[in-house]
Amino acid sequence: MTQSLLQQAAQYLKKALPLMLKYQIPTTPTNYALWYTYVSEQNSQLNAQLDEVISQYQTCPPTTAEVLYQQHLGDPKDLNVHNLRQNMEAMTTELSQSLRDTSIDTDSFRNKLEANFGKLSLLEQESFSLEQVMDMVRGLVQDSDDIINSTTYFTRQLDKAQQEIEALRQRLSTAEHDVMYDALTGCFNRRAFNLDLHALLQQSPEGTCLILSDIDHFKDFNDTYGHVLGDQVLKAVSKRMQDSCRDGIKLYRFGGEEFAVIVPKSQQRIARQLAESMRRSLEKVTVRDRKQHASVGNISASFGVSEWQPKDSTASLIERTDQLLYEAKRLGRNRVMPING
Ligand code: GH3
Ligand code: MG
Ligand code: MG
Repeated sequence: MTQSLLQQAAQYLKKALPLMLKYQIPTTPTNYALWYTYVSEQNSQLNAQLDEVISQYQTCPPTTAEVLYQQHLGDPKDLNVHNLRQNMEAMTTELSQSLRDTSIDTDSFRNKLEANFGKLSLLEQESFSLEQVMDMVRGLVQDSDDIINSTTYFTRQLDKAQQEIEALRQRLSTAEHDVMYDALTGCFNRRAFNLDLHALLQQSPEGTCLILSDIDHFKDFNDTYGHVLGDQVLKAVSKRMQDSCRDGIKLYRFGGEEFAVIVPKSQQRIARQLAESMRRSLEKVTVRDRKQHASVGNISASFGVSEWQPKDSTASLIERTDQLLYEAKRLGRNRVMPING
């Protein structure tokens, strides 16, 4: 068959398919044959009858299609094998095109197409019965149904996979968050502190300052007001300290009622001022005691502040800062050590 004939067949099919879609005609072999003949305008009687049916029903009911088929195309004598071969080759081209359009490039479907092409070439060499030809058309229609089904299935699988990926992504980001943040106060946790301080001292240790703070007489507070209110204090203290942190300065819950602040690229004097402003802001913290219908204040904390020295390891920097905090406690609490940075 010449290319132009194949092109013509493909053109007829391209005309037939939108019409079948428009009038909601099922893609059965009978309907393909009917509508292919309709658009090729080979049988004016068929065209007139089909036009009338469509204008009446806006579709062609299956029983009418069957009658029209039997009447105009059903007789094996009338069957133009050459035409049908064109039809099927065009359909195959159409199917492989829609296959490419849906980006489903399954090996099995390609194999099916190749097998159909093989059968089509036999058509020209031998005379086939109508049944055999229609079997091939049915095979093609079945294959196209298969690919439509597998496309739907594939799309559903893809949707499902995307939902699963999204759920996983959310779980992962929650897990990442949990690993680095403290559940009660929402500030960074001790693990984040260890990682950040280690990384900072590895990369640019000069000017790294550390502030350690510890709430004063917190055991007494818990004993007097209970743990629930104690927890409220921890949250309020964390929030106040966080509010004092500028960009690049991070707050960590170091232990039970102990907080740490890492101040990069600074000086002990500056970090000391920051600790001092934190200390003063904590004096204003109050929490509401619902049982007693009263607000509880008188909260304070002690601070130690230190700057990285060339011989320091993370451990020695923490140790020295902790010593200063201990000194602040010993001297009466609610203060920052050293007295002058
Ligand atoms: P100091 O001024 O010497 O620091 O006295 P302190 O009572 O604060 O020190 P101590 O280390 O003896 O007690 C710390 C208290 O902090 C004990 C513990 O019950 C309390 N604490 C630690 N973690 C939490 C917490 O998550 N919630 C509450 N409510 N209390 C906590
Ligand atoms: Mg403590
Ligand atoms: Mg304490």
